Amino acid sequence: AKDQGPDRFKVFTPRLHEEAVWMMSLETDMDRALAEGEFYVVFQPIVGLEADTLMGFEALARWRHPERGEILPSEFIPVAEETGRIDALGLWVLSESCSNMADWRAAHPEARPLILSVNISSRQFAKKDIVNDIRLVLEKTNFPADRLRLELTETAIMQDARTAVRRMKALRALGVTIAVDDFGTGYSSMSYLQQLPLDNLKIDLGFVQKLEQHPENREIVRAIISLAGGLGLNVVAEGVESAIQKQVLSELGCQMYQGYLFARPMKPEQAKALIMGNRET
Ligand code: C2E
Ligand code: CA
Ligand code: CA
Ligand code: CA
Repeated sequence: AKDQGPDRFKVFTPRLHEEAVWMMSLETDMDRALAEGEFYVVFQPIVGLEADTLMGFEALARWRHPERGEILPSEFIPVAEETGRIDALGLWVLSESCSNMADWRAAHPEARPLILSVNISSRQFAKKDIVNDIRLVLEKTNFPADRLRLELTETAIMQDARTAVRRMKALRALGVTIAVDDFGTGYSSMSYLQQLPLDNLKIDLGFVQKLEQHPENREIVRAIISLAGGLGLNVVAEGVESAIQKQVLSELGCQMYQGYLFARPMKPEQAKALIMGNRET
């Protein structure tokens, strides 16, 4: 079935049309995929800089398409956003990851409590019932609200900041914590940050990966970390791939990191095994 993929259009059609066809087929396939369980969740460890202590996981969506094989979120998330299917997909990821984590916790009550970090897209966060939907998932999965962290982009927050702030406050009242994702890539007006009910700031992997080649990035990251410190926010650096990056980040005062240097996103069974080795000492 491989030759049924998008490649066969390449010879005959201009690129735009090819892309439109691909997007449309993803769109119709997505309903089936949700119903038939083609989506799954992987978990990427978030670790403390000191001794690589496991602090939690970020849940990331994956799609195993029966004909096209693995499709990455960079392809299907934009389609899901455009068509509104992100509401259902996003809630499914939340529910699936909460129930996984709740199961692991029940199986290993001696393990250190971990944070589950879940992405909420702009469109999903703009939905009127989002706070209640999240509350219901927490109830249904019996996952403790104070162990859930939601990752919002600057765009999701700034689109309609008043509404966003109201929702963020309502979520925090449940015990949920909030991170701003991909920090530094959006409308980074530093002044708005202090007015937002935030707990955590994730430095975009673009800055982290350029730490070595471009010394000016070091100053940007230093500024972000010091800003976060001043506002009482924790910082997670994402996309940490090398020991040098980690070294520089630790010198700059970053507390947590996430990246291939420590672990790639992993299947639930592997994540569970990692938890077993993470007893409280
Ligand atoms: P993100 O939220 O910024 O997630 C981090 C991305 O960086 C993930 O890509 C992760 O696999 C990748 N990554 C982690 N460590 C490294 C590293 O050391 N090097 C490199 N090069 N990459 C690293 P992924 O899983 O492909 O997801 C891409 C984006 O898709 C995410 O970026 C997020 O914006 C979106 N996404 C994924 N799952 C979901 C979801 O369930 N809901 C929503 N709304 N968006 C999602
Ligand atoms: Ca994220
Ligand atoms: Ca991110
Ligand atoms: Ca990113």
